[in-house]
Amino acid sequence: MKILTLGAAGFIGSHLTHRLLREGHTVVAVDLTSEKVAEYLDHPSLTFLQQDIRCPEWNLDSLVRDADLVIDLIAYANPGLYLRIPLEVFRLNFTENLKIAESCVRHGKRLIQFSTCEVYGRTAASLPHAHLADPEDPIHATFSEDTSEYILGPVSKHRWIYSSAKQLLERVLHAYGLEQGFNYTIIRPFNFIGPKIDFLPQAKEDIPRVFSFFMDALLNGTTMKLVNGGVNRRCYTYIDDAVECTYRIVENRNGACDRQIFNIGSPYNEVSIRQMAETMRQIYAEKFRDDATPLPQIVSVPGEEFYGEGYDDSDRRIPDIAKARRLLGWEPKWSFPETLEATMRYYVTESRKNRVPSAVGNG
Ligand code: UDP
Repeated sequence: MKILTLGAAGFIGSHLTHRLLREGHTVVAVDLTSEKVAEYLDHPSLTFLQQDIRCPEWNLDSLVRDADLVIDLIAYANPGLYLRIPLEVFRLNFTENLKIAESCVRHGKRLIQFSTCEVYGRTAASLPHAHLADPEDPIHATFSEDTSEYILGPVSKHRWIYSSAKQLLERVLHAYGLEQGFNYTIIRPFNFIGPKIDFLPQAKEDIPRVFSFFMDALLNGTTMKLVNGGVNRRCYTYIDDAVECTYRIVENRNGACDRQIFNIGSPYNEVSIRQMAETMRQIYAEKFRDDATPLPQIVSVPGEEFYGEGYDDSDRRIPDIAKARRLLGWEPKWSFPETLEATMRYYVTESRKNRVPSAVGNG
């Protein structure tokens, strides 16, 4: 197939592009920069277009017209940004992505739209007046694509603008499906993790995802900060498992994915952020430690101090993957420790490659 991949050089996009090329597809890859796909730029089946999709004059329509399938991964998908630039988060994740969807509608092209598990918001167990017999029962935190209700915080907690923008986009795709027979598949990723997930924070203003903060603390012997004690939980999903599932959606055997929403995530890898910090510290000590660097301390910091005003959080989210199992025969395989170790190995190797050797005998 000829596949137009928008956001092809982000974390997920770069791994997916590799897989698409390996499977023999022709890929037209669009992104702001090509760093994460640098190793494939000479591939005869890849055309890379450096392009900001917000630029009013670009040839989206002709690229869509010439493609057999469109995959849209373009997003600001980092909580630090939801708090700092909420308007841009809305514009990119809704307004600009809608243009891509509408071009697919015009040209009758199938669209795979990456959305987010953030659409589910918080759990019922987290509500102040919830009186659940067993609030810890995972059933209260397990989200299903077609039946779960969404619980978001108030407008003053602007974290939820991302969730709302993505939710609205999903609803518009659904409406185009209903009214005009538009063929889409929506993917809701649950905390994908792996090599190239993020940059490591360099400046005070940098707010990548939690893995990168912890990795940076391990490499530099600084502090691992747990926002509000690190009690929130996530299900971390290794990128190879995620790409395998995504590829089955690309294949779309017997049209099984037509107008479907899929959770992609590993329900077996649920951990609190505190457990994540402790596991990373342990893996680092056992496998990667450079004797000169002290192991970081783990401390708790208030959310508003770490992120600023408007902070709120998703407390717990476990994917129900029954649909992916049933329609795609997919099952995640990577355990949490394996997932962390493989991701950490990439960053440790990269950081050691870039280390400036200390000056010796130049006195
Ligand atoms: N978090 C933390 N320490 C950090 C960065 C983030 O404890 O240095 C917490 C954050 O408050 C959230 C969780 O880690 O509860 C995951 O945040 P992340 O930014 O990775 O993305 P999310 O899973 O919320 O989309």
